[in-house]
Amino acid sequence: MPRAVAKKANRKGKEISKRAACPCESGKRYGECCALKQFKWVVDEEGEVWKQIPVSRELDEVNEALIAGFRKVFGREPVGDDPLMLAKYLYSPDDISRETVNAMRRAGMDPAQIHAYEKTGRILTEQNVAFLSDGELAEWDAALDEYRSGSVQKARQSANQRLYAGLMLELPNLIIVLGYLLDRASPSRVLTAGGSALVSVDQYVFLCGLRAVRTLRSICALLEDHRTSGALALSRSLFELYLHIVFVKAFPVHLIDLVDAQLGLMTGTHAFALRTNGEVDRRTIVETATGRRFRAGFSHFRMSRASGRKADEPLFDLLYPHLSSFIHPSFFNLVPQPRDTDEVDDLSEDDPGEAAFYSILFGVMVLDEVRSLGCIDARLKKDVGFALGRVRRKGLKLLRLFRSVSEDKGGYFKALRERLQEVSA
Ligand SMILES: [Zn+2]
Repeated sequence: MPRAVAKKANRKGKEISKRAACPCESGKRYGECCALKQFKWVVDEEGEVWKQIPVSRELDEVNEALIAGFRKVFGREPVGDDPLMLAKYLYSPDDISRETVNAMRRAGMDPAQIHAYEKTGRILTEQNVAFLSDGELAEWDAALDEYRSGSVQKARQSANQRLYAGLMLELPNLIIVLGYLLDRASPSRVLTAGGSALVSVDQYVFLCGLRAVRTLRSICALLEDHRTSGALALSRSLFELYLHIVFVKAFPVHLIDLVDAQLGLMTGTHAFALRTNGEVDRRTIVETATGRRFRAGFSHFRMSRASGRKADEPLFDLLYPHLSSFIHPSFFNLVPQPRDTDEVDDLSEDDPGEAAFYSILFGVMVLDEVRSLGCIDARLKKDVGFALGRVRRKGLKLLRLFRSVSEDKGGYFKALRERLQEVSA
């Protein structure tokens, strides 16, 4: 790992005694073991032992490039303990090993060697074999043997993982089906009496649906790129689109607050109300010409109660604050994740499964609501129902795995299960 090289390169220490036991754990003395290779075992004042590999001309060049990179960003020479590996702020160690594996696959490398890299964190080449201890070489050979014995391939994907992978394939399918539905149907333009003079309920729902397509596309791209924190934050937007849809379907008269009054604020026909003490009341909008008053917004809590679906209440109460904690500064989500080594990784990401599952669930909920509009004909309803039924089956099957988990903390799995069961397929 380049990270390790950069960290240890400027540390000072002296070579350990030739009579000491070799740190590679071969059981031999250092003098008869690694001392014969092209690297040294070095100990510092605190007694910590590490491998020191001689700096080659190639490494010198790499170092020069790193210094040039530092200069470019900060406009000065690096001094003291300035970091040279600036890429560590861009990529987590997980990103680096994943990209390395991908590059190895693309280059058509022997899968046994790729497995050995994943296992040992090293790549064995003719050039570096002299820099590895017998212990490290044995580790490498063991990983190759393990792969060639076939046990790795079998263990690679458990039944649960296959189920999970199958559900994840539905994310692009949801984009397709939602896009197809919006493309093939025309929203009714019939305005609600006493409601918005600009948009009908169907048109507003279609706009939310289009927005959901874009959001799902972004979530897909983020998940493909392993940026799960961003995907989790975006899944909340998908939830909010669902809330807007169920709210305007239940209360079409409030479209005038959500659309006409807001537009009036921008064009100047409306303004925020003034309290008797002269302060601006940002919760009320007034039409200047008529004095008619409008609500400047509705809480998502209130919207969640508009769907008339029992399962939406616990779902909202559990998930909304949870997902909001990925958007707003939250102490609990800001604490860096400890890694299995002694290091803490600021760039490690959240659980991809969680982000994908919520996105699929909210996507399904949006799709279900758009599909139940009066302007959708029977054939379209049937096409969408087929896709919804498949996703619901897969989702429930996956959630069933968690049924036995006694500590369903806060009832998350129960809430997800009950909501998925309400999807009409
Ligand atoms: Zn040794």
